[in-house]
Amino acid sequence: MPTITLPDQKKLKFDHPVSVFEVAENIGAGLAKAALAARVNDQIVDTSFVIKDDATVAIITNKSPEGLDIIRHSTAHLMAHAVKQIFPHAQVTIGPVIENGFFYDFAIEPAFSPEDLEKIEKRMAELVKLDIPIKRIEMPRNDAIEFFRNQEEYYKAEIIAEIPEEQQISLYQQADFTDLCRGPHVPNTSHLKAFKLTKIAGAYWRGDSNNKMLQRIYGTAFGDKKELKTYLHCMEEAGKRDHRKIGRALHLFHFQEEAPGMCFWHAKGWQIVQTVIQYMRSKLAKYDYQEVSAPLIMDKSLWEKSGHWEKFGEEGMFSTQSENRHYVIKPMNCPGHIQIFKQGLKSYRDLPLRMGEFGLCHRNEPSGTLHGLLRIRGFTQDDAHVFCTPDQLQPEINQLIDIVYEVYKDFGFTDIKVRLATRPDKRIGADEVWGEAEKALELSLTNRNIEFEWAPGEGAFYGPKIEFHLRDCIDRVWQCGTIQVDFSMPGRLGAEYVAEDGSRQVPIMIHRAILGSIERFVGMLIEHYAGLFPPWLAPIQVVVMDITDRQAEYAAKVVEKLKKHGIKVISDLRNEKIGFKIREHTLQKIPYLLVVGDRELEEQTVAVRTHAGEDLGSFQVNAFIDRIQAEIESKL
Ligand SMILES: [Zn+2]
Ligand SMILES: [Zn+2]
Repeated sequence: MPTITLPDQKKLKFDHPVSVFEVAENIGAGLAKAALAARVNDQIVDTSFVIKDDATVAIITNKSPEGLDIIRHSTAHLMAHAVKQIFPHAQVTIGPVIENGFFYDFAIEPAFSPEDLEKIEKRMAELVKLDIPIKRIEMPRNDAIEFFRNQEEYYKAEIIAEIPEEQQISLYQQADFTDLCRGPHVPNTSHLKAFKLTKIAGAYWRGDSNNKMLQRIYGTAFGDKKELKTYLHCMEEAGKRDHRKIGRALHLFHFQEEAPGMCFWHAKGWQIVQTVIQYMRSKLAKYDYQEVSAPLIMDKSLWEKSGHWEKFGEEGMFSTQSENRHYVIKPMNCPGHIQIFKQGLKSYRDLPLRMGEFGLCHRNEPSGTLHGLLRIRGFTQDDAHVFCTPDQLQPEINQLIDIVYEVYKDFGFTDIKVRLATRPDKRIGADEVWGEAEKALELSLTNRNIEFEWAPGEGAFYGPKIEFHLRDCIDRVWQCGTIQVDFSMPGRLGAEYVAEDGSRQVPIMIHRAILGSIERFVGMLIEHYAGLFPPWLAPIQVVVMDITDRQAEYAAKVVEKLKKHGIKVISDLRNEKIGFKIREHTLQKIPYLLVVGDRELEEQTVAVRTHAGEDLGSFQVNAFIDRIQAEIESKL
């Protein structure tokens, strides 16, 4: 008879097989009420699951990390239940949990309207109030096919028909609605209290455009109303921070139909790009990189040799022809860097050789996936390649991780999620070499006490990698940096060096990008700061305004002085009311607004305001220069 071990190592003995619910009740009535599911040994199961043998059991509630997926998954069923009640002719298909929520696809005509969404949401709330128990049923596979066919649910029947015949099928029933599902589910609809349906979209059955178009409803759900409210607030905030909107309002860049997915940078936007590049350039100098520049257009044969022709395919890259030769516009910088490495015989003494480029790349992303600066066809990578010996792999990776953290901190990101992707099934290179490289990546992280997640099998075919994901101020995660070990490309393109014993060896190549694409990174910065850049990143740091023409000459002198100190400053000497000028430059999000009137002219000072409207009072010009320079220096 089972002995149950709880997470605190406490043991409960039962003289009969016991359900998860009974275990929870045994611990406390409150827990039994809150139980959504449980982890029994390594399996997540319903509260109705019966435990026959000794097991470790952890009850899952809406406070457990696993609880959220179960709630979202159960809410997807709840939505399908409501849809079937309102639209009995709709057929259900699939409804998975996704990041931040769930969706469910329905076969229905005509398409859902926004009013339908409200109706469905209302019905869901009514079903929650009814406290409907959710029951798990098992059925032989052929009976299950019959069951769904009888209900004219042909998509479900089709899905089940693909499951091996001898398998038992599990169904979940809540009142008049039954769905195919592996589970687990919350035990009762009353646990689903905080949800919101967010949008409707078309989606093809099985993602294939030859199939029927289905109606997809997206939604999200949380353990309690407060979390839902925070999430919805973040979404609203994300809408306000949309970099495309801010880019237009601040005159940073634009896109137009003649160049889809390519950015027209205006002076102020380009200034931000340049600040970012100059900053990264200072890191190249600090860490002994050579900065190089390779051609944008190179013969197709080179891309065939490197493997990119096969990887991107003809549609994935842009190409051009001239004098009967076929050229490719580079999608990546690596092959160019190997050509530079190959000039002149290299010895082990030349390694590690670190080569960086702000390399303009083009990839022919499908037009439907383009999204402002975030998904773009022409972009600049802060790309670098480190050529090294096996012995140098570990110290080089250590150094790269240090640079990555240094850079992210300066840009205001401290919440960094790290993943270590290891060998996939299909790979090249000996297992021993893979083992060493994976170990080197792992050690570099653990030695720095960096928490990371393993991503088994997700490495590239040519080597393992570390990915860095940044969490911004409204909790969104962006993949930016990668450190990728490569055992393949240098050999494919004929790079070698003379080792200490005189033999010819192929160097290991580490590909690394810290910001990823600079365009995308700037797009992300715009959203992170909502356009209110700190002075070091702001394209214009200061505006000097006069109150009347009497101070125009003095204002111009102040501007000259700031310029001499390298401050990005403009003047506004228009014959407009000072309140009007202040409002206009505040909307342009200039960090410092300097006003000069008669008193400032007389005292040779400036009145300083921040874009937030804070009045910092009167400053000697030199004192203001000291203040802003210190801020720029410390990247505040
Ligand atoms: Zn389910
Ligand atoms: Zn590369």
